[in-house]
Amino acid sequence: MEKFDITIIGSGPGGYVAAIRCAQLGFKTALIERYSTLGGTCLNVGCIPSKALLDSSEHFFNASHNFAAHGIEIKNLKANLQQMIKRKADVVKQTCDGITFLMKKNKVSVFQGHGSFISKNTIKVKGDKSETTIETKNTIIATGSKPFSLPSVLIDKKRIITSTEALELKEIPKHLIVVGGGVIGLELGSVYARLGSKVSVLEFADSIIPTMDKSLGKELQKVLSKQGMEFFLSHKVTGAKTSSKEVLVQAENKEGKKVEFKGDYCLVALGRKPYTENLGLENAGVKVDSQGKIEVNDKLQTNVESIYAIGDVVRGAMLAHKAEEEGVFVAETIAGEKPHINYHLIPGVVYTWPEVASIGFTEEQLKNKGINYKSGSFPFKASGRARASMDTDGFIKVLADSQTDEILGVHMIGPRAADMIAEAVVAMEYRASTEDIARICHAHPTFTESFKEACLDTTSRRAIHI
Ligand code: FAD
Ligand code: NAD
Repeated sequence: MEKFDITIIGSGPGGYVAAIRCAQLGFKTALIERYSTLGGTCLNVGCIPSKALLDSSEHFFNASHNFAAHGIEIKNLKANLQQMIKRKADVVKQTCDGITFLMKKNKVSVFQGHGSFISKNTIKVKGDKSETTIETKNTIIATGSKPFSLPSVLIDKKRIITSTEALELKEIPKHLIVVGGGVIGLELGSVYARLGSKVSVLEFADSIIPTMDKSLGKELQKVLSKQGMEFFLSHKVTGAKTSSKEVLVQAENKEGKKVEFKGDYCLVALGRKPYTENLGLENAGVKVDSQGKIEVNDKLQTNVESIYAIGDVVRGAMLAHKAEEEGVFVAETIAGEKPHINYHLIPGVVYTWPEVASIGFTEEQLKNKGINYKSGSFPFKASGRARASMDTDGFIKVLADSQTDEILGVHMIGPRAADMIAEAVVAMEYRASTEDIARICHAHPTFTESFKEACLDTTSRRAIHI
């Protein structure tokens, strides 16, 4: 039986990053993945393919709506969904192949098959044709998550679909009903709205992206409505039925009245659940909580000393970069180092256009905590760079401590917000004040100047361009 210092189950961004860090630290490392390609949800059916389709559909939308204003005329413009999906598949393949290369480069032993515990130090890998058993001193569970649905909304993968099928559709829906106005609903809803589908979003809360700062959901709804999406807030979806070519979605509105929506596809985007199916946790004695998440302490260690768990399968945000940080954290912890993760400063991003990005406390959280804060903002319509590229929707809002001026939260909606949030993360990691940022030179003309301007507005209402 082959023996390893560390075995990782699951090759998503948590698992493969953990494997590389373990190998860098000199551990004999094994990585087990049930699918034939490495990379997990993120690379195969999540972050990467969704962004590939978002980029393609954004080009199409710009060509059909914005190019004429730039003086570019195109006749007979047509969206070729199959080519978009083929390009997406190429991007996914290149990215997944890259992970295979990295495993070889770092001398990580990859086992293809379903991993399950026989005991706390023995793991069985069941492949299509063969079965292997390996012995391991430590294990990192990185088995990720799967889409969640309601018992009354059965996913048939044809008409009532999850994000996985939405990345592979054979036709552009005429009317796509999106259940859930969170990240997946809005990103994939945007893809099809840009390609010409009628898109109706049904959301239980009274705003879209309800867990982010309220101002962001309000502005995003305004802009996406201009792009043709329609929103039904305070609508609790209670069921969905499908016939061969139609879907009927039932919901209850704010007044408790039953309403129905008819479309040809329904995308269920109600969140994701931890994936621990047939993992043999009982054989190793590993505990899960009431939501099925693997219980871990602040070292990401389960109740069994030699078994750790990371990423979507444990508490916290279901984000690829959070899983990656946790992979590195556990590898370094096993090596006896003292790593640290600042969970408060994990950025959240929605890749619609305009993009939405957030870090730190929301205004609602500061109010609830009774923290005295001041707020400032800067609209992109006042940015020269944004006017040049016709991306004037949105703003950057900065929240800072009223006494110390320390930045407590940054919430932005606008062009390239996904990239721009990094400056706010660095600022907050170094506990910068708004005055600090306001005195740093930002290149002109860039979108990033808007962060400086928002900080100038927050520190003492001295923004230059508003
Ligand atoms: P996963 O990526 O889910 O990987 C787990 C792996 O474990 C899978 O490959 C699975 O096959 C394997 N596995 C499970 N059980 C076993 C077993 N018993 N034996 C062997 N292998 C097993 N996050 C972002 O940060 N940014 C984004 O832009 C973003 N976009 C997304 C878009 C979509 C459509 C979706 C669905 C998700 C998106 N996410 C995004 C979330 C992100 O994909 C997850 O947070 C991330 O993949 C979690 O990483 P993980 O390593 O914990 O698990
Ligand atoms: P989500 O939690 O973001 O959104 C689900 C939405 O469904 C919520 O707004 C919720 O209020 C609503 N809802 C719940 N029950 C409802 C009901 N009965 N009727 C109507 N609405 C209801 O979940 P998601 O969009 O499925 O995404 C899953 C995970 O994937 C998230 O944790 C997210 O972090 C991750 N993800 C991240 C990105 C990114 O970082 N850009 C992109 C895609 C997915």
